[in-house]
Amino acid sequence: MNLVALPAFADNYIWMLHDGHKAVVVDPGDAAPVVAALDRHGLSLAAILVTHHHADHVGGIEALRPRLQGPVYGPAHEAIPQPFTPLNGGDRVDVLGLQFDVIDVPGHTAGHIAYAQQGAPSHALLFCGDTLFSAGCGRLFEGTPAQMHASLSALAALPADTRVCCTHEYTQSNLRFAAAVEPDNPAVRLHQAYCKVLRDQDKPTLPSSLALELQINPFLRCREPAVVAAARAQGAASTEPVDVLAALREWKNNFR
Ligand SMILES: [Zn+2]
Ligand SMILES: [Zn+2]
Repeated sequence: MNLVALPAFADNYIWMLHDGHKAVVVDPGDAAPVVAALDRHGLSLAAILVTHHHADHVGGIEALRPRLQGPVYGPAHEAIPQPFTPLNGGDRVDVLGLQFDVIDVPGHTAGHIAYAQQGAPSHALLFCGDTLFSAGCGRLFEGTPAQMHASLSALAALPADTRVCCTHEYTQSNLRFAAAVEPDNPAVRLHQAYCKVLRDQDKPTLPSSLALELQINPFLRCREPAVVAAARAQGAASTEPVDVLAALREWKNNFR
């Protein structure tokens, strides 16, 4: 099975899985890069997975329907272009012979879902949309810090070697923030240097791994003393992880 990140817009990736014959794409905000990739590799489109309703994740669905030979799967409680197969946390979908568990991850949007591969011997795939980014998390447009904390905790509990397929190339700017939160975290500095090499060659910094995110992502490190102290200095109401996350998110919203 091949995993490809198709760049779209300024900083989106449309993830494509294919076996040389059939393909699945995740969050096709734009049809053009998907059609180009299908044609380039001679693939049919077997299914579309959607994580949430934002236009940069669903905008290409209508234009892809003539090529689509299977369902559009999406979150049951969001306005996804009809028709689609609605999914809730706990559901399981089967695409290209791979099984994905659906996890409810509200916070960025109210009905956001993620797709976590089950039954892989190693390096299972996670398609997490705009919930978990490398070294960051999505903005809280429709949810609360408590929801985002619960959502990130659910994702963080997946196997450490899980491949984290986020939808945006925000890694370098997120790492600048992570370095401000934890100036003494060597893993952040190391990964900054590595990502600079990748981006200078126009390569994606993704997928990441959960093991790496647990080392560098301040939003997954809300119990780390250094992160707690930095959040408290920014006005976190307490040392509780939810308050730490709330303060980090607020700080990041205004961080340049
Ligand atoms: Zn979004
Ligand atoms: Zn997005």
